[in-house]
Amino acid sequence: MTQTPLAPRVNAAALDPHLRPDTQGRFGQFGGQFVPETLMSALTELEQAFEQHWGDPSFRAEFQSLLRDFVGRPSPLYFARRLTEHYGGPQIYLKREDLNHTGAHKINNALGQALLTVRMGKKRVIAETGAGQHGVATATVCARFGLECVVYMGVLDMERQAPNVQRMRMLGAEVRGVESGTRTLKDALSEAIRDWVTNVETTHYVIGTVAGPHPYPKLVRAFHDVIGQETRQQCQEKWGGLPDVLLACVGGGSNALGLFNEFVREPTVRLIGIEAAGEGIQTSRHAATLTRGRVGVLHGAMSYLLQDEEGQVQEAHSISAGLDYPGVGPEHSYLKEIGRAEYYAVTDDEAVEALLMASRLEGIIPALETAHAFAYLETLAPQLGPEQRVVLNCSGRGDKDLNTVFNYLRQRGRSLTESL
Ligand SMILES: *Cc1c(COP(=O)(O)O)cnc(C)c1O
Repeated sequence: MTQTPLAPRVNAAALDPHLRPDTQGRFGQFGGQFVPETLMSALTELEQAFEQHWGDPSFRAEFQSLLRDFVGRPSPLYFARRLTEHYGGPQIYLKREDLNHTGAHKINNALGQALLTVRMGKKRVIAETGAGQHGVATATVCARFGLECVVYMGVLDMERQAPNVQRMRMLGAEVRGVESGTRTLKDALSEAIRDWVTNVETTHYVIGTVAGPHPYPKLVRAFHDVIGQETRQQCQEKWGGLPDVLLACVGGGSNALGLFNEFVREPTVRLIGIEAAGEGIQTSRHAATLTRGRVGVLHGAMSYLLQDEEGQVQEAHSISAGLDYPGVGPEHSYLKEIGRAEYYAVTDDEAVEALLMASRLEGIIPALETAHAFAYLETLAPQLGPEQRVVLNCSGRGDKDLNTVFNYLRQRGRSLTESL
């Protein structure tokens, strides 16, 4: 059996999700609240509101009912027979988050935060988005609750992701183009924070992953916990046991934590997160934060991040917009540091090949983000035997990525018919 025993320095308390993060929002040395004084009261208010409503059965009931009827949960746990046969190793199962409304896991969190907004008596929501997926999820739930929605987006990203801009507008959101800096995600983020500081009385800021200052990593994780909880039950129904390995891609880390958190205290379950190695981790063009980064502060929290010699944040690169982020959620830094989770990186090339293979072997076109997790099966499968079971979080569908994949192949003089 291939197993990673828990590192000796890991005690049970360190793995108890109720004690993680601590009251300061720390996961070991990671996390915390590195924000301007003007935002401290908003964060405190948010933390109190979350603790109050998350403990309230009527909030839980409404969240669960919307997850079922609006999002379409539970998402299936699907046995990928042909992929399993292809590798001839472990049994491969897919947790089908791609079948959720709006096509990815992101809706779980957007829905939870929208409900919280309503309970806090706020009527306006802001968000920032890079690829537009988080913006679309946020615009969707704002429409559902009649909340005013403003999404900040770099103008370069607006050009690259025009269909998602149209989707957000269709849903009634206002998309504000950001012209400053590199005109991408991090500039949109700065603008969103500026807006929040100004309008904090009326406005909730919806962060799209398990990053940012406390309490965001904790509450975003809570809204995604349903992924792992369903998985545990589905494994029980299908084979009466636990999975051996959980595999997920990591951008900020929300789909991975949503799957992992339920199993962190199960010592026989290996947790593996896959980052984007872009054009290779030896180049400067990658997004392998946990593999190549150093500890620093970004977007309100201490975590691993990509930085140059002077400590300046380095630009990230990945073919997949959702992994193209120089930071990572602080809890992943912690799980790495204590040796509880493993993190590896796969390149753009490997991800595209994996996307094509999953499409043709399973009839499922995964998102390019998700394809990074599929690509790691090449390495993982030969390490495991046929009695072992891998659950891969199929975080989203790939319809949004077709142009990117076609352009990628065209630039390499390849056609789709010869690509496998
Ligand atoms: C946004 C996105 C990701 C990356 O975000 P995480 O917070 O790391 O989950 C992964 N997969 C899909 C389909 C996404 O849309």
